[in-house]
Amino acid sequence: MSPLTYCKSIAPTNLLDSYNAAISERPSNGTPASGGRKKRGVGDHTKFWTPGRTLKILVFKYDEDSFEAVKNGAIKWLPYISLNFEFLEMDEEDIYNSEEFLGDIRVNFQPSLNKGGSSRIGTDALTGHPHDASMDLGTYFSSPHYEGMVIHEFGHALGLQHEHQHPDAKIPWDREKTYDYYARAAGFSRQQVDANVLPLERIPSRTYTPYDRHSVMHYDVPDEITIGDWQHTASRSISEGDIALIKKAYP
Ligand SMILES: [Zn+2]
Repeated sequence: MSPLTYCKSIAPTNLLDSYNAAISERPSNGTPASGGRKKRGVGDHTKFWTPGRTLKILVFKYDEDSFEAVKNGAIKWLPYISLNFEFLEMDEEDIYNSEEFLGDIRVNFQPSLNKGGSSRIGTDALTGHPHDASMDLGTYFSSPHYEGMVIHEFGHALGLQHEHQHPDAKIPWDREKTYDYYARAAGFSRQQVDANVLPLERIPSRTYTPYDRHSVMHYDVPDEITIGDWQHTASRSISEGDIALIKKAYP
């Protein structure tokens, strides 16, 4: 198994703020993909950025390798989306002296996160306090898996969910072993396992592309937490399925 095996998407602290941020960024985040008249319920909205926009990506200064490591991973999405990225590197002091969102996406580093990362989903990055990072990454920049982790976290920052949670994934999870495993490996509560690992309900108003186990948004799945013989080694690069999905989001 690769040393980077999990990540935690950061749930919005306030659902109404999440909805308002999504709608003011891009009104179509609130309208059903099918074109029907039924409005999305709270929490059903998508969190995509406005196509054509330049996203400011603020990277907290860490060391000489950190900025390049983030940039090299993030730009892997650019050929497939109608967004531009503007990267800014700043000292914490300058960030804390401002009350504005200096970056749409704000990346901080924590050495303790060397087995995973965490990110808010899409426009949820514009909720909460402007000083708070919207993405946390580890500091093992020379790891061969680092870039894959950055790509995965930026997938979340662009509004993507975990692919192993796709309603059609049909992964034969052994639920109790799965709870135990992520409690030990990542310190996840049962609720965090439900939110980040186990299948999510299909939301009728959302557009889905077919389940793709080669997605960069898919976790490693060890055999010991599935029923029967089912395991998967996560991809560390953007798949054809990822490209199809992200192109739909950012035409
Ligand atoms: Zn993730």
